[in-house]
Amino acid sequence: MPPTETFHPTFPTRTFVTVVLPLAAPRAFTYYVPEELVERVQFGVRVEVPFGRTSAAGSAGKLYSALVIEVHNRPPEGYQPKEILEVLDERPLIHPTQIELWQWMAAYYCCTLGEVMHAALPSHLKLVGETKLVLSPLHDGDHSGLSDSEYLIAEALSIQETITIDEVRGILDRKTVYPVIKSLLEKRIIYLKEDLQEKYRSKTVVCVELAEPYASDPALLHEAFERVSRSSRQEAALMAYIQLSKTKPFVLRQDICEMAQTENAAVNAIAQKGIFRLFDREVSRIGSYEEETLDMETSSPRQEKALAEVRALFAHKQTVLLHGVTGSGKTKVYMELIREVTERGGQALYLLPEIALTTQLTARLQRFFGDDIAVYHSKLNHNERVEIWNAVLAGKPVVMGARSALFLPFGKLELVIVDEEHDPSFKQNDPAPRYNGRDTAVYLAHLHQAKVLMGTATPSIESYNNALSGKYGLVEMPERFGGIQMPDIQLIDAKQEIKQRKMQSHFTTALINELKAAVERGEQAILFQNRRGYAPTYRCFSCGWHAECIHCDVSLTYHKHSNQLKCHYCGYHSKLPPECPACGNKQLSLFGFGTEKIEDEIKIYLPEGRISRMDLDTARTRNAHATIINDFEERRFDILVGTQMVTKGLDFENVGVVGVLSADQLLQFPDFRSSERAFQLMVQVAGRAGRKHKRGKVLIQAMNTAHPVLQEVIRNDYAGFYKREIAERRAFNYPPFARLIRITLKHKSAETLNDGARIFTQTLRQKLGDWVVGPAVPFVSRVRGQYLLDYLIKMDRDLRKAAYAKTSIEEATVAMQTAQGFSGIRVTVDVDPG
Ligand code: ADP
Ligand code: ZN
Ligand code: ZN
Repeated sequence: MPPTETFHPTFPTRTFVTVVLPLAAPRAFTYYVPEELVERVQFGVRVEVPFGRTSAAGSAGKLYSALVIEVHNRPPEGYQPKEILEVLDERPLIHPTQIELWQWMAAYYCCTLGEVMHAALPSHLKLVGETKLVLSPLHDGDHSGLSDSEYLIAEALSIQETITIDEVRGILDRKTVYPVIKSLLEKRIIYLKEDLQEKYRSKTVVCVELAEPYASDPALLHEAFERVSRSSRQEAALMAYIQLSKTKPFVLRQDICEMAQTENAAVNAIAQKGIFRLFDREVSRIGSYEEETLDMETSSPRQEKALAEVRALFAHKQTVLLHGVTGSGKTKVYMELIREVTERGGQALYLLPEIALTTQLTARLQRFFGDDIAVYHSKLNHNERVEIWNAVLAGKPVVMGARSALFLPFGKLELVIVDEEHDPSFKQNDPAPRYNGRDTAVYLAHLHQAKVLMGTATPSIESYNNALSGKYGLVEMPERFGGIQMPDIQLIDAKQEIKQRKMQSHFTTALINELKAAVERGEQAILFQNRRGYAPTYRCFSCGWHAECIHCDVSLTYHKHSNQLKCHYCGYHSKLPPECPACGNKQLSLFGFGTEKIEDEIKIYLPEGRISRMDLDTARTRNAHATIINDFEERRFDILVGTQMVTKGLDFENVGVVGVLSADQLLQFPDFRSSERAFQLMVQVAGRAGRKHKRGKVLIQAMNTAHPVLQEVIRNDYAGFYKREIAERRAFNYPPFARLIRITLKHKSAETLNDGARIFTQTLRQKLGDWVVGPAVPFVSRVRGQYLLDYLIKMDRDLRKAAYAKTSIEEATVAMQTAQGFSGIRVTVDVDPG
């Protein structure tokens, strides 16, 4: 038989699409569009495609929903294109600017377009074969109105709890399944399986009513008054209740106290006598009638001035930094600017570091913008996410959210607010894309020719540097709103007290005295210790052994509540060994202290105070967190002990005293940002003191009181802090002078890791020369059983060089992973590490 001649097919008039798959695949792929689908395919719609190896039996590989980013006539080079099977959407899900943003992120943050897409699209919009489906709990079993295929799946799901999309293919025995799944999702008959989302609990207030028999028999009120007559405070409280109950459907305990000029204790005492009944009432956080409507109608002259300055700067700067002290009233400035944008039909995005920590602020914005605002947070379920996605696509004027809100499909974005721009939570550490929400916001705004306003009391060194160099505009609000004074910050020398043996556990005399006085005055206090658990070290006296995680290179923290040693990196926990495993000595002791111990011990010194704690152990869920804040607002306890959670944007009216238990610990962290972080944390937590009615007091305990950062904190001297810090950054070539890329190699065998790293280093150095620092064993050298090695690339901020660095890292990775025995070494790349 003569050999058949084959030519490369040329299809100049045929239609192809370039698609992104929700996978870490390094590039976009080209597919062929069959004739009958050409009409319906366009930029921004999803298509169903096979991907991966085609099996001998002729199955087409796995099916995915992929996103079309280009329709064209160029056949791919180097491979035969497969066909798309279906077009899933009639209209684009995204705008072209979004793809530009994704492409920039993939380039700048050294990751793939698929990884960015994975982060950007809500789950409903990026189905893959393993996606699990469940029947909606609301579905009533009425299957009429379903197509045959839809009926089959609904039936299957009423027998089996979950099925995967791959299994659907088997059930339907047909080539394409995504259109059916999409339709069932839209009809709300099926859901994607997800962990049960707890519903966001609303705010509660303590209300008061008369107990029986007083409630039903007004004649008995006489007797009630007699029973409280020995206390003038209780008498006044009862009187206040009677008056308030005439006009209000619900009487709040707080209102009684205000009217009767008394404390909760008086009301509680009446309840104990069986005259009052106390109960919790849920109130909507969105402007319900019983909540006092905040008087936010008029801006103060200082706010007007700041507004005018921002507007003027926006005329020729894309980005403005609003540096306003805590309590200066920045939120009102943001709200006015957002309102201006929405009034002319534009969209505004309000970004926050962590939406879960900002119930108060969310409520304030919702009252102001009502239906115009959508809040995009991590506890939304898949359906709610898609709803917001579609609302933004349809032009929702205002969106408030954490960094992932950047990915929403804005069409007319005109303004981005980045509140608390300094906050490290804007950085996503894992998984890729490891992006900074603040910096990405600047690029997003650039794509839309929109403006960015960054606000904070403690600007990041990078942003302040940009402001001083003229790249950003700068507006200052150096005073608090309403003429309230900045808190009085005092440094307390703990070393001195230890020497004089005056220290009571971890508290200096001054701190104990201030806390006592505050509680007696009916004020509240916050104690900040940036370490959770009871004690961070469990050690043997005689040989120095200490308890360490078996998977990680860190010491185990003792948690008293569970009476366990726990690893804060991987969750491993164990019982306390009764004797030293190394030398058998029975004298083992706990060292150091965390929030749990502070809570425990402050109870001893302040038996009359009511204490609560907020850290990852007590506030793991949004509800638990909201409850603690709510209870503190409602004055159900006096002292709040917590980790950095208590430093974030909370606005409590009644906090008179703030204590920082160990400033040294914040400053000793081995990182070039530790001074910056310590300064920010202390100034922010100090800002929680004395916000509404009077000057607050802040006590900072430290062993080394001479540390320059502490001096800057007590003088509230941001400028001085910046000047000293920027000089250090320059001297050691750290950001903002250099751009940093951290590369981490991981493997479960230290030997394999070291050997593989040699190949990696060689290629990397060939390409990047002395930009490369390392490899070095990081501070925590092993996590979850994986040994780690770090490289730091220090380079200047030229974007072309960034692209070069990205390809060089990819080449070094390939060189190592293709060498015999090293394919299992994982490489993660973190640009601008936090
Ligand atoms: P910042 O965000 O700058 O720390 P906030 O915006 O939270 O400060 O304002 C501090 C306090 O001042 C808040 O309790 C807020 O309710 C109040 N406040 C700010 N602006 C006004 C205004 N124009 N009218 C009434 N109260 C205001
Ligand atoms: Zn020992
Ligand atoms: Zn561990």
